[in-house]
Amino acid sequence: MTSNNTAITLALTVQLLLFALVSHGQSTTIESPIHANIQEKTGKIFDSLVKIRRDFHIHPEVSGNEKRTSEKITKYLQSLGLEVKTGIGGYGVVGILNTGKKGKRIAWRADMDAMPSDIPDVVDFASKNKGVRHICGHDVNTTIALGIANVMAGLKEKLTGTIYFIFQPAEEPYTGAKAMIDDGLFEMISPDEIYGSHIAPMATTMISTKPEWMFADYKTIKISFQNSDKNDAIVAYSKELISKLQNVAPDSKFWDPNSLGDPTIGLASPNTIFTDYTFVNKKRIKVEKTENEITIKAYIGSSAKEKFDVMLPQLKQEISNSKFAKDLIEVEFSYERANLYNDKTLTKKSLGHIAQLYGAENIIMLHGIMADYRGDDFAYFQEHVPGVYFYLGGSYFEKGILSMPHAPNFQVDESCIKTGVNYFSSMIVERLAE
Ligand SMILES: [Zn+2]
Ligand SMILES: [Zn+2]
Repeated sequence: MTSNNTAITLALTVQLLLFALVSHGQSTTIESPIHANIQEKTGKIFDSLVKIRRDFHIHPEVSGNEKRTSEKITKYLQSLGLEVKTGIGGYGVVGILNTGKKGKRIAWRADMDAMPSDIPDVVDFASKNKGVRHICGHDVNTTIALGIANVMAGLKEKLTGTIYFIFQPAEEPYTGAKAMIDDGLFEMISPDEIYGSHIAPMATTMISTKPEWMFADYKTIKISFQNSDKNDAIVAYSKELISKLQNVAPDSKFWDPNSLGDPTIGLASPNTIFTDYTFVNKKRIKVEKTENEITIKAYIGSSAKEKFDVMLPQLKQEISNSKFAKDLIEVEFSYERANLYNDKTLTKKSLGHIAQLYGAENIIMLHGIMADYRGDDFAYFQEHVPGVYFYLGGSYFEKGILSMPHAPNFQVDESCIKTGVNYFSSMIVERLAE
């Protein structure tokens, strides 16, 4: 998960407690033999998965440098009998579990990079790589993927189709997924559906997601004019023009990070205020001058990609009707990135499988679109293959364990590894069987 606002992260930690119902029981009423097999196998390998996770945690590697991690993953997948491809888009690894029978092709993705961090870790298996820490929980995401691979490999005889396990480097800088795709990932494998999960601050046993857009989309708009003696007026005019794109009032609850977790207006409320918005980061409006040009750049967030589609023509139109029409050179996006989009049908179906097998009370449906600079470059995979991104709870509030990614006190209750392997193995089995 990518985020660049620590203050909001911290505030959100506290507020998510409000809608993160405590449910550590994981009581299930599974009667289907294959899902009982999954639970039994997960239980058997759980201790070994905890060891693997702690090994990753002790030896974190920053984005683009995941050499040791990828070697460990490769060995593990090979030991399960999977076909393994390495060195994709950097240290990317793909494990292929082919059942030898015709059927669906499902991909599961995990990210594996750690982050630069000097904040002391709270666990007694803290990082031995000075200044690097798994503070976003990718060690756990990776371990869960290995666990699912193990469980699936054990069930191979009972399954049809193919399962791909994608281990992605460099998620934090939002570059690793794209690098794997550019390096030919989808010429190597051809999944029909793709899924992935990320540790989040709800209680363990809880998962959450939503159909369609999950995070705000972010782009930088760049307006360039001829450099002239009208520069000051042009800058003032452009700033006003850009400010008008914002549709949330400066003094509204939208700006209070606590609102994200508020039960009446927050993300999990059907009456959420985070559904239809565009906002301008005033601190990130930049003016640059060259010999011939003056450019105004603004970083903008919006609840939907569609809102950006109309933005450029609208701005051009307005400028062409202004006294600066002749000075205008171009209106364009100078920065844009893929934004996560959960397939509507697959979200409903995959959550349906998990609800049926593990209890609907373990699912928090999000209604709002997160507006705090969060995102995940899983989005790039979804541009090629329909799929769903889940949040998996890692907090255990009574033990003081809060798994808010990037927060200084980030910790994970490792029982969430069991939850993740169970839920998502079962979900994949059901998807293959459809
Ligand atoms: Zn992350
Ligand atoms: Zn992160």
